[in-house]
Amino acid sequence: MNKDQSKIIREQAPRSATREHSVPLYLTSSFIFDSAEQGRAVFAEEEEGMVYSRYANPNTSEFINKVCTLENAEAGLAFSSGMAAVFASFAAFIENGDHIVSSRAIFGSTHQLFTQLFPKWGVTTSYVDAVNPDEWEKAIQPNTKIIFLESPSNPGLELVDLEWLGKFKEKYPAIILSIDNCFATPYLQKPLDYGFDLSIHSATKYMDGQGRVLGGVVVGKEELIKKMMFFIRHTGPAMSPFNAWIISKSLDTLALRMDRHCSNALALAEALENHSEIEDVKYPFLPSHPQYALAKKQMKAGGGIVTFEVKGGKERAFRFLDELNMILYTSNLGDSRSIATHPATTTHAKLTEEERNHLGIKPGSVRLSVGLEDKEDIIGDILQALEKTK
Ligand SMILES: *Cc1c(COP(=O)(O)O)cnc(C)c1O
Repeated sequence: MNKDQSKIIREQAPRSATREHSVPLYLTSSFIFDSAEQGRAVFAEEEEGMVYSRYANPNTSEFINKVCTLENAEAGLAFSSGMAAVFASFAAFIENGDHIVSSRAIFGSTHQLFTQLFPKWGVTTSYVDAVNPDEWEKAIQPNTKIIFLESPSNPGLELVDLEWLGKFKEKYPAIILSIDNCFATPYLQKPLDYGFDLSIHSATKYMDGQGRVLGGVVVGKEELIKKMMFFIRHTGPAMSPFNAWIISKSLDTLALRMDRHCSNALALAEALENHSEIEDVKYPFLPSHPQYALAKKQMKAGGGIVTFEVKGGKERAFRFLDELNMILYTSNLGDSRSIATHPATTTHAKLTEEERNHLGIKPGSVRLSVGLEDKEDIIGDILQALEKTK
C-alpha cells in the first residue's frame, strides 16, 4: 500500500488475541510487564512497549501514526486539546530570554500565550504581517527560538508562502519553524514538505469533524518530538484513549469530508461574491483573493471557511445571524454542520478596533464554517437571511 488513503484506513493498533476487525478502545491507565526484567528493560528504553497512558496508548499511537502518514512526518504526539498541543510546542523548547516570531493573525488563545503567559517567564514575541516577506527578516533577533504561523489565518484567510518561509529558515538552522495547520488539515496542505519542523493541529476541528471531542496533535522532526515527549510525560497533557479512538476513525473519512467542505465552501463564496448585500467575500480559491495563485500552489483546495462582510455593519450582522434558520451560532468550526460566528464580538472581541482592522475583521464580518449539508440548503439559508434583513 503506497497511497495515503489506503495506508491510513489500514493503520491499526496491533490486533489482540480476540482477532477483532475494528480497533478496540484501550481504556487502561497502565500496561503489565511479563517479568520484572521486562519492566526494567522497557523503562530503560531497551525494549519497546507501553508503560502508562500518560506516555502512550495503543489508540493514541494509532491516531498519531495516521497523522504522520498524511503529513509525511517522522514522528508525532497526541494532546488533550489543540491548545495543549500549541502550548507544548513552545513550552518544550523555550527558555527564559528567548524570543518568538509569529504571524499576527493567529488563534485567540495562542495570542494570550504570547501576550499574557510567556512574558511572565521571560519569553517575548514579535508579530509580523505575514504576507510581507521583508517583515520576517526584520523580526529575527539573535535570541529567536521559534518562528510560528497560521495559514490560512482565522478569520481573515490570509496565506503565508510556505515554500518561501521554508527556504528563508535555512539561513537560521537553530530556529524551529512551526505552523498551526488546523484550518488546512493534512489533506489540503503539507508544510513539512517545505522544510517546516513542526505542524500542529487542533484535532477538535476537521480531524474529528463532527463536533464531538477535543484533541490536539503535533507532528514533525523526530529529534524535536523526542524533546516534546519529555515535556508531556512529565506535565501530562496526553490525549484520552477514548478521544483518540473517535478521532482516529474519523481520519479515515477526512479526505472525503474535506472534498465536500471545500466544494460547498467554494460554491458559497461564488454565490456571495457579487451579491448586492455583501461588501466583501474572502475565500482562498476565489480568483479575486489577493493570494489566489499562492493558494493554488500550496493547497489542494480552499478549505471549509468562508469569511464575508455584510453591508450595514454590526447591527446588520447581528440581525443576519439571528435570521439564519438551519445554520446555528456556536464557536466551533470544522463540523459536519455549517456554523456561523461573529468574530468581532466573540473570538476577537478582546482585540482593539485597530488590531481587528489590521486582521481584516470588520463589524459586519461573519465567519462561516461550511458544513457537509447540501450546498443548496447552506446557500439558501444565507440568501434568505440576507433578503430578510435588507
Ligand atoms: C480551535 C483552534 C485551536 C485550539 O484548539 P482546541 O482543540 O480548541 O484547544 C488552535 N488553533 C486553531 C487554528 C484553532 O482553530
